[in-house]
Amino acid sequence: MAKSKSASMGLAMQMLIGLVLGVIVGMFLDSQFATTYVKPFGDLFIRLIRMVVVPLVFATLVAGAAGISDVSKLGRVAIKTLVIFMLTSAIAVIFGLLIANIIDPGIGLTLSTEGLKAAQVKAPSFVQTLLDIVPINPMEAFAKGSILQIIFFAIMFGFCLNFLGEKGRPVYHFFDIVGNLMIHMTQVVMRYAPIGVFALMAVVVSQHGLAVLLPLGKLILASFIATALLVILIYIPIVMFIIRIPVADYFKGIFEPWLIAFTTCSSAAAMAANLVASRRLGATNSIASFAVPLGNTINMNGTAVYMGVCAVFAAQIYDLPLTMGDQVIVVITGVLAAVGTAGVPGAGLIMSTLVFTQIGIPLEVIALIAGVDRVLDMIRTSINVVGDSTTALMVSRMEGELGSEPFNEDEGK
Ligand code: ASP
Repeated sequence: MAKSKSASMGLAMQMLIGLVLGVIVGMFLDSQFATTYVKPFGDLFIRLIRMVVVPLVFATLVAGAAGISDVSKLGRVAIKTLVIFMLTSAIAVIFGLLIANIIDPGIGLTLSTEGLKAAQVKAPSFVQTLLDIVPINPMEAFAKGSILQIIFFAIMFGFCLNFLGEKGRPVYHFFDIVGNLMIHMTQVVMRYAPIGVFALMAVVVSQHGLAVLLPLGKLILASFIATALLVILIYIPIVMFIIRIPVADYFKGIFEPWLIAFTTCSSAAAMAANLVASRRLGATNSIASFAVPLGNTINMNGTAVYMGVCAVFAAQIYDLPLTMGDQVIVVITGVLAAVGTAGVPGAGLIMSTLVFTQIGIPLEVIALIAGVDRVLDMIRTSINVVGDSTTALMVSRMEGELGSEPFNEDEGK
């Protein structure tokens, strides 16, 4: 564990070095030379990421949806928890979109979309977009990598797996294992990220000069402000008026999981501490042990903010207008992408490609984001953890059970 933690810290550093070296080398490279000889190394990175996305999303979502086998057992609690997860995630993406639209992180730099395929895709009408979420043929959706359709099919598939009861368990285990396997594969792919980032940055800088750097600072600023506002305008009122515990007590209580999340960039690593913290703050055992682990898999509010901010950033960088319809698509895809994000470092970066593909943004943009993604990841992972504990506390309060089971400190050891 400690080894993988330090390895991933090392990777973030390497990605940052890749970015810096890419900028430096790019300044001296002829753009024609860079496009011919350096770009393929960047393209390889993008292909690798695209390779893992479909099976990763499908397997984790099937296992996640099938894991909600307690819907009938926990009934109300499960439904309340899921509704809160989805609502807060959607609000989070909207916050990201709003703040990014104000700060305009991508203005001031225009990358050409010439020759970049994804940009040619023009969004159809809103109704058609919604209808298109339902695949006519799931196999076609897989072959074409139509991610929304795959997500829709995965959730139905996993949910219906519950109806098979015991007989369906092997299928659930299969997808659970495939999901884990794909998370490992993602980590292997990310080992190549520093070279990919280096190559993509060198090409971008050789073509556009140093103007690419300013937007990155603004991207971090926009992420930070959007996330801070989410805490101030949504979480603090939830703690004060719905959970009804002193705000200072709440933040003191979740300090430990928050710190783990912030430093490791892995909400999965912070889960055990979050469970204990939520119990200490008054969530009941049954609710906390349902909401926190489930939230750990599907409730990523910080990641949802990031999806909104990055969508605006990327659209501005490529000078592609984000229509109202596009922004609605960003909210829907952003929530789904956040749902499909695993609680490990950098997972959100990979998942952001879902949003970009859906609104026709060239995936080259992730090279820019990747260079500073560690900082963005620290911000978003901290909030992913907060969202899970507030949900556990909120549902406990709504059930009239908050504080009804004093936490036995020995349990958490
Ligand atoms: N690192 C995040 C987490 O563990 C996921 C992400 O990359 O957005 O929650």
